[in-house]
Amino acid sequence: MSTDCLFCRIVEGSVPSTIVHETDSVLAFRDIDPQADTHILVIPKEHFPDAASMAAADPKLAGEVLAAAGEVAKIDGVDASGYRLVFNTGADANQTVFHAHCHVLGGRNLQWPPG
Ligand code: AMP
Ligand code: ZN
Repeated sequence: MSTDCLFCRIVEGSVPSTIVHETDSVLAFRDIDPQADTHILVIPKEHFPDAASMAAADPKLAGEVLAAAGEVAKIDGVDASGYRLVFNTGADANQTVFHAHCHVLGGRNLQWPPG
């Protein structure tokens, strides 16, 4: 737990969120500024600064984040229509919150290449 980390505070419950799915190790909640009809963030409850450092330290946890991303896609009904998983990492990807998170985006046709 990092007290100055927004997503650690969401895990702790001191910052409110709209929770979609939760396991012992993972939390999924709606993005506050949705970029598609479905825009959910899946995070490990433990703090890692980005997806790669999470996967290096705890590959099982990284797998649990991906499994939860699939679950929330089902919950929102975009598993059949399709969805995109995004882990923004670092400055060029415009990562703004340095607690690993997977964006689950769906419910519209997502353009490629991304902006
Ligand atoms: P990134 O730019 O990949 O680091 O993504 C951070 C995401 O967190 C952005 O899509 C924000 O809209 C989202 N976000 C920021 N604050 C909150 C919050 N309090 N609750 C839910 N999502 C948030
Ligand atoms: Zn954190």
